[in-house]
Amino acid sequence: MNSNDRLYDLIIIGGASAGLTAALYAGRQGLKTLLVTKDIGGQALLTDSIQNYPGFINISGLELMKKFQEQAMLYGVKIMFEEVKEIKDKDGVCFTVRTTGGEYDACALILAFGKTPRDLGVEGEERLKSKGVSYCAICDGPLFRGKDVAVVGSSEPAAEAALLLSNIASKVHLIYKLAKLLAADELVEALRGKSNVLFMPESEVVRINGNNTVESVTIKEKGSVMRDIPVQGVFVEMGYVAKTDLVKHLVQLNAKNEIVTAKDGSTSHPGVFAAGDVTDSPYKQVVISAAQGAIAALSAYNYIQRLRGKPAIKGDWKNLPAAKTTQISLELNPV
Ligand SMILES: Cc1cc2nc3c(=O)[nH]c(=O)nc-3n(C[C@H](O)[C@H](O)[C@H](O)COP(=O)(O)OP(=O)(O)OC[C@H]3O[C@@H](n4cnc5c(N)ncnc54)[C@H](O)[C@@H]3O)c2cc1C
Repeated sequence: MNSNDRLYDLIIIGGASAGLTAALYAGRQGLKTLLVTKDIGGQALLTDSIQNYPGFINISGLELMKKFQEQAMLYGVKIMFEEVKEIKDKDGVCFTVRTTGGEYDACALILAFGKTPRDLGVEGEERLKSKGVSYCAICDGPLFRGKDVAVVGSSEPAAEAALLLSNIASKVHLIYKLAKLLAADELVEALRGKSNVLFMPESEVVRINGNNTVESVTIKEKGSVMRDIPVQGVFVEMGYVAKTDLVKHLVQLNAKNEIVTAKDGSTSHPGVFAAGDVTDSPYKQVVISAAQGAIAALSAYNYIQRLRGKPAIKGDWKNLPAAKTTQISLELNPV
């Protein structure tokens, strides 16, 4: 890697609604911008129907995210499909971002790495991830056609996953800690109408077993009775959390481990901005992440302008030639 490939004005972490919009705005200001991401689209890829993104009556998450990527790439942003592992303070002003592919430097960062599914936190889970343990019934359900699966979780996402899987899998064990599912009555009714869904209330998965792939789960039932249930798939559907361990040494977090931001997207650390679901914003939506990405990019641009002794801007109204359209090749490669 030569120094030109390592040094950027701005590094954006996360390639979904927030990160791609930040990339669009940063690129349009002419910042040398690197976007590092595990995938393009993030959580939006999990839905076939987004009905509340203005300008589109109904669009799949995948289609919308492709459009975001396409527009960001018109302005010369470089995208690397890598996972960020560490962020280090370089010299008190700039940062080094270490990824699965290398190290990159910039004096401004935008943290837009969203939310990730909550882990179950039991033995066997980490080892059998993608070998039967999944966090996305929509994405991985078809791999379990005719097989027996477990869905773990007490609320709406777990009930929805169980219903979806009941049309694909042979048997669906719905395992939840509470006495009653915390889901809409119609959803629970629909599940009750499925003969292949087995309700397992007041039960807890304590271990996922298997050598190379999932073979069973060990559950603790009411009265502390332990037993193994043979399954080939385990769907952990316990909601999403901000996994911010990566930046806890750098920026202030709230009690939910979300990044605390000001109105301009700045964090407690100069030069570090944040946008989208990873922040302490009360609402988690595509349109909100996108707006915050734009705000963070404009603020990052003004921060860099200040470092350079140049004037700040108030918005982005300029018309730029869209000559780069022909050079775009879209990628959605997950890491
Ligand atoms: C099932 C479902 C349905 C939804 N339906 C709607 C809807 O209809 N309308 C709506 O407005 N919203 C909906 N949402 C919410 C919406 O998807 C999110 O608010 C939005 O995706 C948040 O965007 P984001 O960019 O902040 O983060 P995310 O979408 O979470 O994306 C984070 C990005 O960061 C990347 N990343 C994470 N960690 C790292 C790392 N260490 N290194 C590199 N990259 C990393 C990920 O790969 C991803 O690209 C839905 C969410 C779900 C789960």
